Amino acid sequence: MDFRALLPIQAVDQRIAQLQHKRAQLPEHAAAASAQRALDAARAEAKRLSKRQGDITGEIDKLEMQGKDLDAKKKKYETQLKNVVVMREVEALQHEISTINAQHSSLDDSELALITEGETLEASLATLNASTPGLEAAAAQAASALAAVLEVVDRDLAAAGDEREKFVAMADAAAVDLYESTRKRLTGPAVAELQKGACGGCRTPITAKEQTEIKKAANTTDARCPYCGCLLAV
Ligand SMILES: [Zn+2]
Repeated sequence: MDFRALLPIQAVDQRIAQLQHKRAQLPEHAAAASAQRALDAARAEAKRLSKRQGDITGEIDKLEMQGKDLDAKKKKYETQLKNVVVMREVEALQHEISTINAQHSSLDDSELALITEGETLEASLATLNASTPGLEAAAAQAASALAAVLEVVDRDLAAAGDEREKFVAMADAAAVDLYESTRKRLTGPAVAELQKGACGGCRTPITAKEQTEIKKAANTTDARCPYCGCLLAV
């Protein structure tokens, strides 16, 4: 095994990790999500208002029908009133008619309230509909800005991936396997150089005795930093 051949793989892996981090943290993600949320909220609100508009129309129709029923009843009582002479019956019919009048007046109040609500709603809906194209444009723009920066990062990632493949092909398979299994276990670098008497991975100084041991085990699975466990190319 030749650990030196692993160093460029480690370097490119570090760059890939940085690019992946950058890709995940792009501010364009938040901008695109926020623009889309604003658009979704406006659309949901427009839908809600339209539905309420339909409900109002239905409720007004119902009230109109109830009003017509009351009108017919009242007409019937008024006709009866012309033909009764007994005072008690006259009073009873008059009472019915005044009850109907009160009911009708209450229906009219409800209808008026619904009409007023409908007008307010109409105005809100118009404002909302006027703002929608702007929100759509903003969401589309934010999405394409995100796509553009992602394209650049993905191109860099693809190039780094190609580079990695090249380095892996140049290294021997056993060394690459050792590197991969070491990398899985460590959060820091999986392979580093001894630099000025210290581990290039964790920067811990390595004693002369330890260095001698590592050099003796050079390019074997035992050639590791005793502190962070990374493979050491000596
Ligand atoms: Zn170390």
